[in-house]
Amino acid sequence: MWNQIATQIAQTTGKPFEITDRRSVSGGCINQGYSITDGEQTYFVKTNEASQIEMFEAEALGLKQMHQTQTIRVPQPICCGVRDRASFIAMEWLEFGRGDSQSWEAMGRNLAALHKTVGSDRFGWDRNNTIGSTPQINTWTSDWSEFFAEHRIGYQLRLAKRRGGSFPDISKVVAAVRDILADWQPQPSLVHGDLWSGNAACTTDGEPVILDPATYWGDRETDIAMTELFGGFPAAFYRGYNQAWQLDGGYKERKTPYNLYHILNHFNLFGGGYGSQASRAIDSLLR
Ligand code: ADP
Repeated sequence: MWNQIATQIAQTTGKPFEITDRRSVSGGCINQGYSITDGEQTYFVKTNEASQIEMFEAEALGLKQMHQTQTIRVPQPICCGVRDRASFIAMEWLEFGRGDSQSWEAMGRNLAALHKTVGSDRFGWDRNNTIGSTPQINTWTSDWSEFFAEHRIGYQLRLAKRRGGSFPDISKVVAAVRDILADWQPQPSLVHGDLWSGNAACTTDGEPVILDPATYWGDRETDIAMTELFGGFPAAFYRGYNQAWQLDGGYKERKTPYNLYHILNHFNLFGGGYGSQASRAIDSLLR
């Protein structure tokens, strides 16, 4: 498999490439990660079962679209495919270090620049992708409240029901979310989609980077809400973001439905205490 991956990288980049060293990289939630090098060029490769190729294709497309905006650094995708019953994605290798507050301020500013990218008058994306390993539905929709309530909350609640979760009536929760978002008409922004602290890092030069996206055209506030959910980002990040593009005052109210999506997804992926966390969020929406 590795020789074939090296050949595909060489074909795509137009530079000869033969692996002289391969190392396992830990830290991923879903895939196996590796660094591969010929001593000069190094790439980051993630592998999974062959059936997961669509996940990698969507990741490559998301990285490519974000890379093209030239707003915030993402690893440049090289290629993906299936070799020897395994699927893989190869991308630029980045060396990560500790970011200081200047780096995190730049992270905020650059994310705001990504969010300002104009490119769609509807919400959704050209294909479905995944959030963790859960399918994420990106059916093009003109109305944000409909998109978010149906394709984010409704979809996860239907999965949760199949998983045995006991939540209030799905249509009631979807209607409550639509209601909260009814008067809110954000511009469609290119969002990262899965922006928890594990998917944001700084290079050894202090350049901010975002990784492992679940990209689509959505409300920029969904990215900001998620940064507050698991672990949180440094204060400098919010300073930089708000300097570049001030958040709307109503964000605080929308944060709960936006993060409910990720809590429900965590319930669907991992179960456990995420069920009661989701119930509490739903109760506050129905109040
Ligand atoms: P998964 O899809 O399994 O969640 P990630 O894309 O989050 O995997 O990557 C897992 C870890 O690998 C990251 O936390 C990071 O430390 C490292 N990593 C990811 N992308 C790169 C890259 N382009 N260069 C170097 N290391 C990377």
